[in-house]
Amino acid sequence: MRLGIMGGTFDPIHYGHLVVAQSSYHHFRLDRVVFVPAGQPPHKLGRRVTPARQRFLMVALATMSNPAFDVSDLEVERPGPSYTIDTLRAFRKEVGPDGELYFITGADATLEILDWKDPEELLRLACFVAATRPGYPGTELEEVRAKLPPAAAARIVSIEIPALAISSTEIRRRVAEGAPIKYLLPEPVEQYIMKNRLYAGRAQPEEARPDRVEEGSR
Ligand code: ATP
Ligand code: MG
Repeated sequence: MRLGIMGGTFDPIHYGHLVVAQSSYHHFRLDRVVFVPAGQPPHKLGRRVTPARQRFLMVALATMSNPAFDVSDLEVERPGPSYTIDTLRAFRKEVGPDGELYFITGADATLEILDWKDPEELLRLACFVAATRPGYPGTELEEVRAKLPPAAAARIVSIEIPALAISSTEIRRRVAEGAPIKYLLPEPVEQYIMKNRLYAGRAQPEEARPDRVEEGSR
């Protein structure tokens, strides 16, 4: 069993995430890729994050048409901050000692691995896939490897993916400003955002709400 694990906040999920997952699936001949939305991301405690249930639903909508993709509620259901180490231990149990785990991240996330809980243990549990991301040069990865014992360093592998300069931050900003997000993320996710007024609430044009009835109009 070769299992890919795509962790993230997914607030919201977008085509950058999906391309990284699909490229890793192909490149490492994975059996499937499980998306694991973070419950309480420990590194994002400073900002307001959309409720986990809604981020989970958006990931489910985005991945439902791909038979190789799955979504897990492991972190969403676990109380307290979501640590990758706990997640990898859980998946290690699932695949057994002979299974192979690939934890898929963008280059920016991999560069932070030394600050995560138990980096060496993390790298024993899974190979870390560092996918290219616009704005994060691959050369810095060497500096991370240099600070690790060789066996751990060898478990960080990088892959080149078609560059998509899409981020959830940019999508949230665009929604708040009323700018289009079409073609940056799957359509059902876009519809979910608009229907539930995520990221903006009020910023939608009137014509986007045809079923809205003004108070006192009937
Ligand atoms: P935010 O802007 O809120 O941080 P994000 O777009 O970075 O959101 P995350 O949920 O933080 O999305 O990312 C989950 C994982 O996907 C991370 O490992 C991140 O590096 C990776 N990732 C996100 N967008 C891209 C992209 N466009 N190309 C490559 N990797 C990406
Ligand atoms: Mg991010």
